[in-house]
Amino acid sequence: MSATFSVSIIGGGYVGLVTGACFAYLGNKVTIIEVDEQKASSINMGIPPIYEQGLEKILKDTVGNRLTATTSYESVSTSDIVFICVGTPPNNDGSSNLQYIRSAAISIGTSLMNHPGYPVVTVKSTVPPGTCEKIVIPEVLGNSLKTANCVGFCMNPEFLREGRAIEDFLHPDRIVIGSSDKRAETILRTLYTSLNGNVICTSLTAAEMIKYTANAFLATKISFSNEIGNICKKLGVDVYEVMKGVGLDHRIGPHFLNAGAGFGGSCFPKDVSALISLAKEVGEDPILLRSVIEVNEQQPLKMVNLVKKKLGSVKGKKIAILGLAFKDNTDDIRDSRSIPVINALIQDGADVHAYDPMASEHMKTIIPSISYAESVSAALQDADCCLVMTEWPQFSHLSDEFSLMKQPAVILEGRRMLNRDDVEGICW
Ligand code: NAD
Repeated sequence: MSATFSVSIIGGGYVGLVTGACFAYLGNKVTIIEVDEQKASSINMGIPPIYEQGLEKILKDTVGNRLTATTSYESVSTSDIVFICVGTPPNNDGSSNLQYIRSAAISIGTSLMNHPGYPVVTVKSTVPPGTCEKIVIPEVLGNSLKTANCVGFCMNPEFLREGRAIEDFLHPDRIVIGSSDKRAETILRTLYTSLNGNVICTSLTAAEMIKYTANAFLATKISFSNEIGNICKKLGVDVYEVMKGVGLDHRIGPHFLNAGAGFGGSCFPKDVSALISLAKEVGEDPILLRSVIEVNEQQPLKMVNLVKKKLGSVKGKKIAILGLAFKDNTDDIRDSRSIPVINALIQDGADVHAYDPMASEHMKTIIPSISYAESVSAALQDADCCLVMTEWPQFSHLSDEFSLMKQPAVILEGRRMLNRDDVEGICW
């Protein structure tokens, strides 16, 4: 049996909650510290405030014995390891807003003042290179009045995918541990002993940069595939046949080559923008990364242009949107490609009816002015056009439902999902 630890997690969002639940599942004593009281009490009732496959079951098994959530930082003063999992949203100029990181570091520092041992403060949030050294370490040491040899620091970026987060956390491709010293690195390595991932040990700054580089590369693969898809569409070539032939090359790999409406979510757009901002700060013009974002911003508008090409004016036309979440199996709508599409359609006077198995409530908070359907059929009933925007697996089984639309049905895909001949795709 591997060693177990007392762990505090700052921030109980997608990353913090999954991290906390998984470490509790692995036998550790975990306290999630969350400023949002409602989130904390929901976790304590075993109800996940977010949807993530398998999470509810882990909470049921661990809450009340090895897992608790609280708004108090008290547990930090006796924890072996403290994870920072707070958000790092973008500033208006695209750079990373580090105010939550700083505030968590200050609270951790204050709480560590009477810590009797050697706590390891570990950043899991995605932060620009230099953040641990310039913000986290000085704030923790300054507020705890401890010296550098009394507290360890690690940067342990998270690579989980929303919708498959538990699976990814428990079966990682690799575990990256950047550290301030060997002692801190060894403690974090021991925490991860029971997971079978390759462990890569680096400096703090290299670990910070690994996360940005990985996300920028994946986003680049998507924008590259979309650009090839746009060209293929004009040439009358099926981009999916092309990418199948391309992805079987082991130097390229088959993943992230699906052309479509572009990438969204809480990570790729903001992390690529933050990297662009960082590059500019150090006097580099990130030509490729700028193009990655530009292609991604054009893609949803291509979807809207396709609708107009098919319908002419969209004014007063009923447009069904299938899928609001930025990807399948999540209720997260952050930077979802449905948002610019819906906004453009509203602006042109369309009557938009949207359906998503999980994300409608979230979308209502930012776009209240459209109709939200309770089912695919309700969204499609008498619709002039249907846009498939999220790759929910259940959409691939739709068939008779399209006969509810005005005929002949205009069905357009932003994600290749439907096996029908009468469908047109954004890049196919
Ligand atoms: P989130 O917004 O879902 O969660 C952050 C949580 O931190 C919120 O619940 C917020 O209330 C809480 N919080 C903020 N300040 C706090 C404080 N001082 N003390 C306690 N709680 C505080 O964000 P997320 O999606 O979990 O992302 C967190 C970090 O992980 C970001 O840097 C993100 O880029 C990175 N990341 C996210 C994913 C993902 O798929 N969501 C994957 C890998 C990495």
